[in-house]
Order: sequence, then structure tokens, then C-alpha cells
Amino acid sequence: MTQSCRAGGAEVGLTFVGDDSNPTPAAPITCETCAASCCRLEVWCLTDTGVPGHLTVTDHFGRTLMDRLDDGWCAALDRDTMLCRIYAQRPLVCRELEVGSPECLAERG
Ligand code: SF4
Ligand code: SF4
Repeated sequence: MTQSCRAGGAEVGLTFVGDDSNPTPAAPITCETCAASCCRLEVWCLTDTGVPGHLTVTDHFGRTLMDRLDDGWCAALDRDTMLCRIYAQRPLVCRELEVGSPECLAERG
């Protein structure tokens, strides 16, 4: 993104470190090198994107959220690949988080 993604294996172009006269390419920002940090956040299902019901929970306000397992990650995250198993149906908030955005970089730490 700017491809919008969360844990979809997306990658944005090289960033640069160093000063302007001697820029040095840093590693590309990619979900594949991030351990899906943003997939531990609370995710509300604000619109119907086709998320399977068994992956969601309803809170005491009646809102639908992605379920999270004991390890803290979203129930839809594949623990082997650390990619989203329902990428085409992922919630709107997941689509709106862009790889390389300030929010993404804050989660990557
Ligand atoms: S924090 Fe950024 S790089 Fe990591 S999985 Fe989320 S969108 Fe991808
Ligand atoms: S639905 Fe997919 S992209 Fe969204 S938090 Fe869960 S695993 Fe990550």
C-alpha cells in the first residue's frame, strides 16, 4: 500500500537512512518481516465484509469484533505464515491500515 493491508504480505518501496547526500537503502517495509504486529489490536467489524462468524465475538455493547486468542493475535491470523487467512474478507479497519503509514510503523516498533 500504498496498498492497504494488514498482514497480507504487502510491501512498500525502499526507505532510506543516512543523510541526503549519502542515502543508504534500508530494508523494505513489509508485512512479511513484521510478525503481524497490527493483528494484535482490537478490530471492530464496522461493515459486513464477509468475515466468518466463528472468528468474531460480540462485546457487551453489542459490537462485533474480531476474536483474539490467548496469544493476543486475531483468530483469523495463520500462526504458521503470520498472514491473514481471510484477507479478501478482512474488516474495513484492516483494509484502511496502510503498510508504511505512521500507524503501521508505530505498531512495528
Ligand atoms: S504493522 Fe504494518 S507491516 Fe506489520 S502486518 Fe501490520 S500493516 Fe503489515
Ligand atoms: S482480520 Fe486479518 S488482517 Fe485483520 S487483524 Fe485479523 S488477521 Fe489481521
